[in-house]
Amino acid sequence: MKFSKPIKKFYETDILIIGSGSAGSTAAIAAASGKYEVTMVERYGFPGGTSTQMLDTFYGFFTPSASPKKIVGGIPHRVVDALDRTGNIFLRPNTYGAGTGVNYNPEKLKQVWDNLLLEGGVRIFYHSTLVGVESTGETSTCVFFHKGMGFFSITAKRIIDASGDADYCHWANLPYEKAGEKEPAQSMTTTFRMANVEQQEYEAAGGKKMLKEKMAEAYEKGSHPLPRKEGSAHEMCQPKCISTVAVKVVDLDPLDVEGITKAEIEGRRQAFVFEDFFRAEVPGYQNAKIIGLSHQIGVRETRRVFGEYRLTKADCMQAKTFDDQIFLCGAPIEDHRKSDDGGSETFWQYVPEGGVYGVPYRTIVPKNGQNTWAVGRCFSATHDAHASCRSMAQTMSMGQAAGLAALVSLDTDQNAKNIDFNKLQDALLNQGAILEMPDKTADTSRDGWKNN
Ligand SMILES: Cc1cc2nc3c(=O)[nH]c(=O)nc-3n(C[C@H](O)[C@H](O)[C@H](O)COP(=O)(O)OP(=O)(O)OC[C@H]3O[C@@H](n4cnc5c(N)ncnc54)[C@H](O)[C@@H]3O)c2cc1C
Repeated sequence: MKFSKPIKKFYETDILIIGSGSAGSTAAIAAASGKYEVTMVERYGFPGGTSTQMLDTFYGFFTPSASPKKIVGGIPHRVVDALDRTGNIFLRPNTYGAGTGVNYNPEKLKQVWDNLLLEGGVRIFYHSTLVGVESTGETSTCVFFHKGMGFFSITAKRIIDASGDADYCHWANLPYEKAGEKEPAQSMTTTFRMANVEQQEYEAAGGKKMLKEKMAEAYEKGSHPLPRKEGSAHEMCQPKCISTVAVKVVDLDPLDVEGITKAEIEGRRQAFVFEDFFRAEVPGYQNAKIIGLSHQIGVRETRRVFGEYRLTKADCMQAKTFDDQIFLCGAPIEDHRKSDDGGSETFWQYVPEGGVYGVPYRTIVPKNGQNTWAVGRCFSATHDAHASCRSMAQTMSMGQAAGLAALVSLDTDQNAKNIDFNKLQDALLNQGAILEMPDKTADTSRDGWKNN
């Protein structure tokens, strides 16, 4: 089939980042040193990906334990600082689950990403989707589709695939595993937000514990057709508003047009089942209503690239360290999948003793790539390891490392695989990244963010 319109514009850049999620935006900010031209392309009209499309809590900054340690610094920390300065965060301490969360206002986060990207001089193209790649090894020409303009291309010396779905790697024929090929893929979730919640009444009636019991009861009795007997709802920065991770959609392929269409419809349907349940059964929610569904259904995993190293469950659970580690992770394996009785539940497995593991640079370097990095939820990991290392403090850290690695690689004219790791390590430390577990006696649990 021939297209009726040719490529309309041809751009060039030094570093091209595909996708502006937590990983891509951080990569672009890290790469924007002023020395090289950095371009970031995003299919939607705003930055942040999952961080702004559907969520409001950064996990992974702190280890989950009774004495949490802050293990992520650098640009991810700067992003939280920028939110904190305008009163747009609060910490939600938690000794279980994914640990202490940094709650933020996702609408403000869109502006924070915009500002940090523009301050760095990043050229941004929104509303543009990658649809094809031609690579010579030395350079890659990426073709994008913009609805108004049609096709345009960007030729780049270095590429960072931060599309979440590894779209660049897919079009460039770099190897990956599709979630669901071996282990069942993690379920999808349409998040929703409700306003007019009487939080004091909710807490007085038992809070989280009460909600859990009421959900289990409604599920078991069938009084409300809930898809599962668990699910969370937590306070937001906006007064009297809550945000949920409750909907669960399973057995549909988000990379297939029919699968994702069905998933979006099913996610919305479930959200309103939950709305009925909350209003009828949960004290404090009598007059609450949904005020927003996630911009799209939340997709936890699709393609996982095969990199120069593949992070494994053993690496996580044995708290391994690596000579080329680029950040730390202490998050548990949090696997959202179908339970044996057909319902869909979350399975947890913790790094022993509140420990952390290191994540090697090689996990963001795709096999057979030349000048390419793959970061965020498409990085190189097995299903289980991915289920631990996908929180946003970690996806931002991958982005930071890739952005700086691209700079080192251009400076020294070496490809992604062969860069001098010492130079990358120095650059990471200069930007405040944390590469070693903080001193066991140091109290980093609150870290100086004002609005704790
Ligand atoms: C429902 C759900 C709940 C979660 N809860 C939490 C939580 O509470 N806290 C936490 O820390 N983590 C949570 N996670 C995990 C975490 O949010 C993700 O792992 C992380 O945000 C992934 O970031 P990313 O940048 O890799 O990908 P994404 O956020 O998916 O960003 C990818 C970006 O690329 C763009 N893009 C995709 N394809 C193209 C293309 N072809 N061309 C141009 N642009 C493209 C997308 O529009 C998007 O902006 C959750 C995930 C889900 C799905």
